[in-house]
Amino acid sequence: MEKSYTIGDKTFVLDQAKAEEAFAAKQVINGKDTMFFNILPLKYQWAYDLYKVMKNNHWEPEDIPMQKDVELWRSSELADVERWIIKMAIGYFSAAEGIVGDNIQHVTREVVTAPELKLVLGRHAHEENIHADSLVYMISSLGINPHECEAMFEDIPTIEKKTNFVVSNSRALRRDMDLTQTADKQAFAKNLFLFGQCMEGTQFYGLFGMVLSLYRQNKFPGIGQMFRYTLRDESNHIEVFRNLLMDLIEENEDVWTPEFREELTDLMREAVALEKEFIRDCLPVNAVGLSADEFCQYIDYIADRRLEGVGLKPIAGGVENPFPWLAEMMDIKKEQNFFEGRVTEYQKASALGSVDDDEL
Ligand code: FE
Ligand code: MN
Repeated sequence: MEKSYTIGDKTFVLDQAKAEEAFAAKQVINGKDTMFFNILPLKYQWAYDLYKVMKNNHWEPEDIPMQKDVELWRSSELADVERWIIKMAIGYFSAAEGIVGDNIQHVTREVVTAPELKLVLGRHAHEENIHADSLVYMISSLGINPHECEAMFEDIPTIEKKTNFVVSNSRALRRDMDLTQTADKQAFAKNLFLFGQCMEGTQFYGLFGMVLSLYRQNKFPGIGQMFRYTLRDESNHIEVFRNLLMDLIEENEDVWTPEFREELTDLMREAVALEKEFIRDCLPVNAVGLSADEFCQYIDYIADRRLEGVGLKPIAGGVENPFPWLAEMMDIKKEQNFFEGRVTEYQKASALGSVDDDEL
């Protein structure tokens, strides 16, 4: 079907069929190789919707006051283990956020072909930059020696192990993959599962739980607030990668063999074991209201949710969530207006379109 437009003495013929062909060629992988950013017509509506949600959650570290955190950090009221948790959180995430962003830019966003998938992955990578920047802000506000953060990353074996677990996979995929081959498709599917469900989905949650437990006791309100924003962002990242994996499997049925499902389950088993070891390093002695056993139970609980989310059987099974309040921590909007109002301001500004800065 062709449609022609005559304007003045020029005639333009637009070929609808060709456009429809391009639409049909949209795929998670092996789709039409195009440099155009032809987001419309949308094939992956979820990707565009999530992009909008993520954009509306935009936050900037400098908007969050750190005075109370600094006072507490300098005071003698803080237990050694509480100080250690904050250091481990800053040390681990400083590197981990970068690793996730790097994998998106050099593996995931390179491999996917549909433009709306590249769009949401671009936002995802940017949010990892915001998270990394929030850690820079925490380090400089508290006056932590940045060399010490760097050293933690290399000198604490449980951090090193968590890092190798994901980096070895990401590095191996930086080559020309032949995505018509089942083995290479599975390598990419494994990358999606590893980063979305094992790393961001499970291995981030030990420290999320600890920092937000302190926040719940009114300790570190600034850092806690930034971790709440980060947790909310991560929940969207997990969903982006979950959807990518589910659509990839749907379009490539050869990927989802029983052996491959077993391989992913084993990968999660390893992720959980590494996280539990790491939790014991973050919390070598129990702090007020924080016990390592509870955090380990939480990891079992959360890992099972991630497995079920992609249609895999749980590992632990029947574990109760010891921290039901943690999910509520992500629900920021309700009270946000109340004491700060920043998040809604960003939304308002974008809804108004182009308004001059001085009018806002
Ligand atoms: Fe992040
Ligand atoms: Mn993330």
